[in-house]
Amino acid sequence: MTKYVFVTGGVVSSLGKGIAAASLAAILESRGLTVTIIKMDPYINVDPGTMSPFQHGEVFVTEDGAETDLDLGHYERFITPKMHKANNFTTGQIYSNVLRKERRGEYLGKTVQVIPHITNEIQDFIARGAHAAGDPDIALVEIGGTVGDIESLPFLEAVRQLSLRAGRNNTCFIHLTLVPYIASAGELKTKPTQHSVGELRKIGIIPNVLLCRADRKIPDDERAKISLFANVPMDAVISVWDVDTIYKVPMMLHEQGLDDIVCKTLDINPKPADLSAWDKVVDRLEHPKDQVNLAMIGKYDLKDSYKSLNEALVHAGIHTGHKVNVTFIEAEILEKDGTDCLKGMDAILVPGGFGKRGTEGKIKAIEYARKNDIPYLGICLGMQLAVIEFARNVCGLGRANSTELDADTPHPVVALITEWKDHTGVIERRSEDSDLGGTMRLGKQIVPVKPGTLTASIYGNEVAERHRHRYEVNNAYCDQFEKAGMVISARTPGENLPEIMELPDHSFFMGVQFHPEFTSTPRFGHPLFNAFINAAAKYHHEHEKKDQK
Ligand code: GLN
Repeated sequence: MTKYVFVTGGVVSSLGKGIAAASLAAILESRGLTVTIIKMDPYINVDPGTMSPFQHGEVFVTEDGAETDLDLGHYERFITPKMHKANNFTTGQIYSNVLRKERRGEYLGKTVQVIPHITNEIQDFIARGAHAAGDPDIALVEIGGTVGDIESLPFLEAVRQLSLRAGRNNTCFIHLTLVPYIASAGELKTKPTQHSVGELRKIGIIPNVLLCRADRKIPDDERAKISLFANVPMDAVISVWDVDTIYKVPMMLHEQGLDDIVCKTLDINPKPADLSAWDKVVDRLEHPKDQVNLAMIGKYDLKDSYKSLNEALVHAGIHTGHKVNVTFIEAEILEKDGTDCLKGMDAILVPGGFGKRGTEGKIKAIEYARKNDIPYLGICLGMQLAVIEFARNVCGLGRANSTELDADTPHPVVALITEWKDHTGVIERRSEDSDLGGTMRLGKQIVPVKPGTLTASIYGNEVAERHRHRYEVNNAYCDQFEKAGMVISARTPGENLPEIMELPDHSFFMGVQFHPEFTSTPRFGHPLFNAFINAAAKYHHEHEKKDQK
């Protein structure tokens, strides 16, 4: 039977609940337990995939094609099992299920209410998440939002009921709170934590552990005070201070005995933790051999909007021994001011994106990378724009574009497959195509690789990566591109869609239609990002030498 660890948050958001849950899961996994992590989001959106990256950070995509909260990315970076659709659900999904049942008459005319119908549905979703993960020893359940929010009340009530039903020693409650340092008083303040725990107690939840976030270590005096007021044993009042890398958190929590307290609460006694892999990650991160300068050309200047990508670059640094200095450049700046801002860069990366804004600036950056032999990696939109740049500037196809960006382009080198099927005659429009004019290609796909290519040297004979896009490189133009020197190094098996493009006469130039950042982890890295950063390091050295001459 799966035991549950519930992680709630108090006082303010953004304290790192996801990282804390993922770090604890990592420790438990290192103790030989099977684990999964489930995230419940209190917002009403049914589909996190439609939320703006400005408001909500990146949309993470699972293997089975779910568009989820970015916390699932953290989970996959910290533990080995993959996340699935069932690992993330929202209030919107809960309500939409309950309403569907009500319409079908499944409640037999009873009054349908938050308690018990919504709270039962939440418990069913939790059980389903654990079951989809193979009924692991432990399911950690992260409850989005902050205790005291109206939105998260049904979730808290549901887990309280679940804990009662599960019986003694089968659930553990962890509450993450803030202990702010007030500079003018020179003191850490415990009052917000006291109130937040009081708020939880009002709902009937008594936390077993408090994780107290502060910008510094919390001294024993304050911990004792929190213990007394919050009615939590002092050894279970754990200090979580700011660290320069999130990958230090598992060790920080383990050293204070968090996993032992959780195991004791759940009445289990697994083997001791082995965090040596995490020590290695931190050690390599802190002792790079060298550094590279990378320009990321995007349109959301917020770390969370490209969360997995930023992490993947850190991982590549860890695995190649480099500090990767990422300079974020707003694509529109390149449109106004040209490419001067790219001087001194050892690599250029254009990530995924939607819509026209900034795309001409990105194309300028790509042209600069191609002409100056600077390593380039284009991800999803970054691949499509590399194809457009090549069509315009190498093949002479003026105004070539994607139909997403210019509906009237004379050369739709990137388009919805339904728009270019007439050219090839092989693509059937699938019946589930949405009103938006084409289905999103979502989730993992396994694709064979053309031997002898750069792609083959990185991936071997097949690529298994995740997708999230509607538009595709138009096969009708591929002959022309290949004659002009582009290599399409991977194509999907069924529909023959171009999956990867590369330019062989270049230090490193690749565009990939998928999102490799979703499969990179700190412990295992990712071969594509490693190869890209190694190419950047080579470029860095060659140019350093040239500059010295
Ligand atoms: N907007 C492009 C498409 O829908 C690229 C999407 C992306 O980069 N994720 O195909």
